Amino acid sequence: MSTSKASPTVKLLINGEFVESSTTEWRDVVNPATQEVLARVPLATAQEIAAAVAAAKSAFKTWRKTPIGARARIFLKYQQLIRENMKELAALLTAEQGKTLADAEGDIFRGLEVVEHAANIGSLQMGEIANNVASGVDTYTLQQPIGVCAGITPFNFPAMIPLWMFPMAIACGNTFVLKPSEQDPMVTMRLVELALQAGIPPGVLNVVHGGEHVVNAICDHPDIKAVSFVGSTKVGTHVYHRASQTGKRVQCMMGAKNHAIVLPDANKQQALNNLLGAAFGAAGQRCMALPVTVLVGEANDWIPELVEKARALKISGGVEPGTDIGPLISCAAKERVESFIASGVASGAKLELDGRQPDVPGYAGGNFVGPTIFSGVKPGMAIYDQEIFGPVLCLVPAATLDEAIAFLNANPNGNGTAIFTQSGAAARKFQEEVDAGQIGINVPIPVPVPLFSFTGSGASKLGDLGPYGKQVILFYTQTKTITARWFDDSSVAGPVNTTISLK
Ligand code: NAD
Repeated sequence: MSTSKASPTVKLLINGEFVESSTTEWRDVVNPATQEVLARVPLATAQEIAAAVAAAKSAFKTWRKTPIGARARIFLKYQQLIRENMKELAALLTAEQGKTLADAEGDIFRGLEVVEHAANIGSLQMGEIANNVASGVDTYTLQQPIGVCAGITPFNFPAMIPLWMFPMAIACGNTFVLKPSEQDPMVTMRLVELALQAGIPPGVLNVVHGGEHVVNAICDHPDIKAVSFVGSTKVGTHVYHRASQTGKRVQCMMGAKNHAIVLPDANKQQALNNLLGAAFGAAGQRCMALPVTVLVGEANDWIPELVEKARALKISGGVEPGTDIGPLISCAAKERVESFIASGVASGAKLELDGRQPDVPGYAGGNFVGPTIFSGVKPGMAIYDQEIFGPVLCLVPAATLDEAIAFLNANPNGNGTAIFTQSGAAARKFQEEVDAGQIGINVPIPVPVPLFSFTGSGASKLGDLGPYGKQVILFYTQTKTITARWFDDSSVAGPVNTTISLK
């Protein structure tokens, strides 16, 4: 809870107004590199949540009828505003989240791509038509908005993931209630301000802050028709079941333990450099990070070189030029990662590189853990079985590609994976047999561009339709199928029964 009453407050957005919460419960937004308190975020009251949903419900009455071109033009303007404010947004993101400025720009850019995609809504939200399905009869579909939708987002991509959600929902003609991560809500709020500046009308986009109680209120509210969630498997599973009970559509993108497979025929330098970036970039706090690498055969001989490269990575504040690894989001996250490292040692894995207590000049108080590498890791060890969400890489040996794929598929998670090889046959076998949503072939973090949809398998996803791309149009719309026949004056009388003859 908050200790610093002098800090600026993060506002709620209700019916087009940025309002101060009347709550008595606040928490600090803290710079994870310096522990400076940047702002205080409210845990919204039940009345404020109800007001946000009521505003969205009321705005839906007119927004759903807004012509598709008018909706598209708002997102054309919005993408321009995000571009113009990129540096300011990145600085805000780095201050509250910790990732490097380059990573922060990447976070915003991947969201910006979805905004650009939303500007295409005219061609995305088209129905289908079949002409003359029976004599004089056409069948066609409408993709109509469903009403108030809600989004619940995690701390690790405070720009990209909110932008996965509200632009596509609103472009489809829905209204929205967003619940950002309470750990880093500031860049999200700046993006929301820009969205209003782009022309999103009052009530169409609303924001409430808080944790568990706000999420539960969203799950339970009868006027919310769909919930998009991104976060941990534990919370996502809870959200999926609770929101489904009130008949909502729910999509939950959840935790991960992504494996890379490295074959000995891979381009060694490319593979090692890509592994380092994917395991340690953003301090390992990416759902598409590669915290497990299965080294096949002679690729196991590359461990010493991998360790030396990891040792050379620069750990510092995200604003410092040349930084590779910034801080973890909170003191609690740092302690959690350190305790995983201790458990890895106790369980018998070989600690090849220990990132605990790194020396970070100028940032003595930051939540830093340096790159950490274990070899000889096995299922049953907590460092393998659980999502650490820190800069800890687990190396596992395998004799063959078949053995590596079987090992990967035995893991309950299925968010992403990557193979490093120069063999097309091996890569094709991998893409066909591996059980994961996103598959990279010599691409370490294969997050799809918004022409496609993000997906997932196993414990990493609940709900069948993913964020953005074509799938999210189906998620955020109701399909109506119309079967129509028109009579003109010269029509002869049709069948007297009410069903259409398909002969
Ligand atoms: P989290 O699950 O702790 O929080 C996500 C959201 O749920 C936040 O808005 C938070 O306020 C809320 N929340 C937290 N505890 C809650 C509770 N007990 N009841 C109800 N709501 C609660 O996740 P996080 O730590 O913010 O983010 C990291 C997690 O997100 C990792 O597991 C990561 O793999 C996952 N993630 C997944 C994807 C994906 O696309 N699959 C993308 C990014 C992050």
